[in-house]
Amino acid sequence: MHVIVIGAGVIGVCSAWYLREAGFEVTVVERRAAPAQESSFGNAGVIAPGYVTPWAAPGMPGKVLRNLFASTSPVLFRPSADPAMWRWIARWLGECTLERYRVNKLRMQRLAFYSRDCLHTLRSQLGIDYEQSQGYLQLFRTERDRGLAEPALALLREHKVPHRLVDADGCRRIEPGLTTDTPLAGGLHLPEDESGNCPMFVRRLRVLAEAAGVRFVMDCHACAPRPLPGGKLALDLRAGAAGAMRETLTADRVLVSAGVASAALLRPLGLRIPLYPVKGYSATVQVSDELQAPLAALMDESYKVAITRMGNRMRIAGTAELGSRKLDLRPAAINTLLKAARDWFPVAGHYDNATLWAGARPMLPDGPPLIGATAVPGLFLNLGHGSTGWAMACGSGRIAADLIAGNRPGIDLDGLTPARYGLGPR
Ligand SMILES: Cc1cc2nc3c(=O)[nH]c(=O)nc-3n(C[C@H](O)[C@H](O)[C@H](O)COP(=O)(O)OP(=O)(O)OC[C@H]3O[C@@H](n4cnc5c(N)ncnc54)[C@H](O)[C@@H]3O)c2cc1C
Repeated sequence: MHVIVIGAGVIGVCSAWYLREAGFEVTVVERRAAPAQESSFGNAGVIAPGYVTPWAAPGMPGKVLRNLFASTSPVLFRPSADPAMWRWIARWLGECTLERYRVNKLRMQRLAFYSRDCLHTLRSQLGIDYEQSQGYLQLFRTERDRGLAEPALALLREHKVPHRLVDADGCRRIEPGLTTDTPLAGGLHLPEDESGNCPMFVRRLRVLAEAAGVRFVMDCHACAPRPLPGGKLALDLRAGAAGAMRETLTADRVLVSAGVASAALLRPLGLRIPLYPVKGYSATVQVSDELQAPLAALMDESYKVAITRMGNRMRIAGTAELGSRKLDLRPAAINTLLKAARDWFPVAGHYDNATLWAGARPMLPDGPPLIGATAVPGLFLNLGHGSTGWAMACGSGRIAADLIAGNRPGIDLDGLTPARYGLGPR
């Protein structure tokens, strides 16, 4: 049975790996020349199942409104006339209650914990190195920041996720490079959370998948799949979105993991996915002083900036901007990232020579992704992983492969399938 995967980001490549393992003939179609060139490229690299959090949270609408005109805010809303954005916001607002937050967070956590297990299995099975590090420390600059973390803390306690609240000295024992010059009220340490270089992992998995027989068709734009009589699907491949026709592939199943582009791709099939890009930025900095640099991953809770060690570099990432589809670099956002890193690790790296990046999180209004069959026979989704796609990738790929193979997935899929938006099989 032939399965085509559209998109070679972290979600598509993990899916392709597990599909091949399940015995399928697999083709991955990617519009870029290499895998992991879009959202999966410059992310913070954090794999924190204990901390995965929907963007729709109590207090978020107020935070967005208060910061409407503050260009340095970690959360920014740029109102535009785009009707899709307003529809998305209306749904998102409905998910910002405490009750919905708990439901959505638990769905995301269920998937993220499963995904971490899958990642560990894959890592020991394949011996992939991806600059991984262990532990995740959230920094609270003020008591107020600590208070804001209370709903998340309550869930950690309730679900017995290993964690430790530490004072400023405790933070510095975990991360000895942290400067004493910046006020620090304390931190939350999640020893079992981890981080790693996502595009490095994807590139290595792609090589192994290719060696295992997966075909990668790069530099080709996939058009919307066309159902054929008899149940198969046809996929036209073009040189670009409006480029020359290259070839038409046919498959028994098509899995769409095209990140933020998935909504436009699926619209001609009548599938309206409430997916919207939430833009973010990262800066990658060469470490100049090993002893003053972070050892693992941290999060500055006030600025919502993650600082992650990746080999001899630091990745500094953050900012969530809603309303712009352009991936231009906004200087105020970059300055906020570098300020947070300099505040904590002032002499650790060559901040003036940072490599800068902007990317879009493929975000659904409630938070969890969509994995599974759609109303179009043979067409499956694995998309909408928002801010935590790397943390959920292996588990999501494994689940997608299990569903396509007709196997029972490793976790309960309640609230994780297209049925939640009325997009599932009728
Ligand atoms: C600033 C920032 C920080 C982040 N930090 C973290 C983090 O610390 N931890 C975490 O877990 N997540 C993080 N994320 C989120 C994570 O990066 C995403 O959730 C994840 O990369 C999404 O993967 P994807 O494969 O769905 O999308 P993508 O990586 O975008 O892959 C989709 C692929 O589909 C291809 N494509 C699209 N349309 C077509 C078409 N028609 N034909 C062919 N190919 C097509 C694209 O070229 C692309 O390669 C962060 C994101 C951002 C922006």
